Amino acid sequence: MKIESKKEFYINGEWIAPVNQNDFEVINPSNEEVCAIISLGSQADTDAAVKAARDSFLSWWHTPKEKKLNLLNNLLKIYIKRSDEMAAAISVEMGAPIDWATNEQSKSGEEHIETFIKKFEEFNFENYYDENVGNYISREPIGVCGLITPWNWPINQIALKVLPAFAAGCTMILKPSEIAPLSGMLFAEMIHESGFPKGVFNLINGDGPGVGTQLSIHPGIDMISFTGSTRAGKLITKNAADSIKRVSLELGGKGANIVFADADEKSVKRGVRRVFNNSGQSCNAPTRLLVEKSIYEKAINEAVEVANNTSVDISEKNGKHIGPVVSKIQYDKIQNLIKKGIEEGANLIAGGLDRPSSLTKGYFVKPTVFSDVNNKMTIAREEIFGPVVSIIPFESEEEAISISNDTSYGLTNYIQTKDMDKAQRVARQLRSGMVEINGVGFAEGSPFGGYKQSGNGREGGTWGIEDFLEVKSISGWK
Ligand code: NAD
Repeated sequence: MKIESKKEFYINGEWIAPVNQNDFEVINPSNEEVCAIISLGSQADTDAAVKAARDSFLSWWHTPKEKKLNLLNNLLKIYIKRSDEMAAAISVEMGAPIDWATNEQSKSGEEHIETFIKKFEEFNFENYYDENVGNYISREPIGVCGLITPWNWPINQIALKVLPAFAAGCTMILKPSEIAPLSGMLFAEMIHESGFPKGVFNLINGDGPGVGTQLSIHPGIDMISFTGSTRAGKLITKNAADSIKRVSLELGGKGANIVFADADEKSVKRGVRRVFNNSGQSCNAPTRLLVEKSIYEKAINEAVEVANNTSVDISEKNGKHIGPVVSKIQYDKIQNLIKKGIEEGANLIAGGLDRPSSLTKGYFVKPTVFSDVNNKMTIAREEIFGPVVSIIPFESEEEAISISNDTSYGLTNYIQTKDMDKAQRVARQLRSGMVEINGVGFAEGSPFGGYKQSGNGREGGTWGIEDFLEVKSISGWK
């Protein structure tokens, strides 16, 4: 297997060698072999990238909207042309089966570019005079942004930050996940090919204690936009405090999927598949399956059927299987949580410990279902980030709402019922940034983000652009 050398950083419009040599191996999780070598950046690399972004800020801010739109349209064309390369990079770095990498992971990047172009075209930056208060109000880019992204939906998260930052008029330094950096580096190539002015977009690789922390502290950065664990979100917030940066966070989740007795017959299966997709590595996965007592036995059987019919295999193969989880660390974490579920008395009814017997290497986890889970158990409280479903029975609407809200997270919850009055009543009482009713997907450009320890930002569409703006009010304008 060829090992790619990807040691350079993209700073001020060119690929340059890091100041210090600090190699890091990127592992293909399907076979545990090294697929690329990157460099972890140092303070000097971070400083160079911040300087490039600062130097280009004023001119990018004042670049006419039409010119910015032309560049974004160039990027869209290049992205579409190179989308197979993007899918291949994601597949090898984080283990998404090639079909999933193509149709979901890589595709999400294209869709976000398209949507942001539309929203940017419509977005009214026009400063206006507010007759009621006599103030002139203008919305302006916040400045230089540090964008720190995770490995689970790598290009999706990058697109959700880079595109609105461009549109808002910000300049930026992207630090993709060191575990899955190849998609981000390919995206940087596309940005270069599109003709963006030098310094507007910069990329440095690095880990959390290194470049991640340097960006969070850096006095030359005005805002950090972060997606990843709640653990890292807290550290970033603390590190950003001394320079009073804006910190926009998209963190973990522990979504409840409330299935009432009158739900449509596909509800349980749809919810369980949703957890297994992407090998369980989605922050909005409905991992707590709350089922009304009268249909509990039926739901358990359906969940087991889905688990037993979900095949697990290497990412290179075409097909509808799920791939490995991203790393040895994640594999071990998931195994420990499955063990904990068994020890704390949950009923293991599908999957379980160890990798599937058909696979001898790779970070593969069996699609796993626990029933008779109560909401105090560790598997109901911690984000497992693997293909593990916890089924919790409930007796009343009030109890379902109370269990759903009894979590430190608040990203996405799900409701399944044919009674629309009930659905709307429950949706209003759930403490989460998003609620999905009856499997109806969110419209393009809907705000994505969480309450409580799931974060404080809103990404996507107009909301995403606004996250990167400052509001200025000027009195005595007329
Ligand atoms: P992580 O939060 O550590 O990594 C995400 C990104 O943050 C990476 O780019 C990483 O280098 C960076 N980072 C890490 N520590 C940092 C710090 N102190 N300062 C600045 N940047 C930092 O995620 P992980 O450790 O790889 O995964 C652990 C858990 O995080 C997972 O099990 C999962 O529960 C959760 N997670 C959630 C999401 C999400 O989308 N909500 C994504 C990835 C991981």
